[in-house]
Amino acid sequence: MPEGDTIHYAALRVGGALTGHVPDRIVTPHPSFARDRWPERLAGRPVEAVEARGKHLLLHFGGGLAIHSHLRMTGAWRVLPRGEPWPRSPRAAWLVIGRGDDAVVQFGGPVLELLTEARLRSDPRLRGLGPDIVAAAPFDEARFLRRLREDDPTRTFGDALLDQHTVAGIGNFWKSEGCWAAGVDPWRALAAVSDDEALAVVRALRPLMQQSATDGRQDRYRTIYDRAGRACPRCGAASRIRLRGQGDDNRTTYWCPECQS
Ligand SMILES: [Zn+2]
Repeated sequence: MPEGDTIHYAALRVGGALTGHVPDRIVTPHPSFARDRWPERLAGRPVEAVEARGKHLLLHFGGGLAIHSHLRMTGAWRVLPRGEPWPRSPRAAWLVIGRGDDAVVQFGGPVLELLTEARLRSDPRLRGLGPDIVAAAPFDEARFLRRLREDDPTRTFGDALLDQHTVAGIGNFWKSEGCWAAGVDPWRALAAVSDDEALAVVRALRPLMQQSATDGRQDRYRTIYDRAGRACPRCGAASRIRLRGQGDDNRTTYWCPECQS
């Protein structure tokens, strides 16, 4: 599932291809957009900015219109130079924006909508976001801790880190990696996790996620995610990385029961 760094990287790439330009063509191949007339409504409008907020991607067009996208589990943004083979079937494309030699494509993804900037500003999905762990602006640690303490104190820490109201951008991969990096057991209840421990996780993750957001190479930071049964890279062969579904959504968490406490 795309996490905040992946979306920030997509915003960088999509913005590089489109910002400051009027697209040559806009196509919405998915049947659910057939009556929405996006090509007509966006015709002649320049792309003024492309930005990520947590896991949301926003394309701002001239004249006060914006595209709002959220990929959830399986969607992807790609910038495909002319002649390069597409990684998925063209039938999986929900949106294609052509400009020069590039095609900017969103494949899949359940949230893709065109709305006015005024509606975007009042959208509760965006207004409710916690501080963005990837954004260049200083991370508001006080706000993060306040939101964390407003959450159910019996909720497990790993599950709480996925709550985008508390901190925007962390998904399954970084939840597991961050708790491991800080040596914090993701199964502890929030009430038993100190502010310093919670901050240690976001402080460990932020530079890694920001680097991944600039070069798209998230996988180099994989230490325990998807490595159940292997030796823990920190405490050695005696201990094995474990996995278990966590929270109401049963999202997979990886951890080391020896060196995370
Ligand atoms: Zn360990």
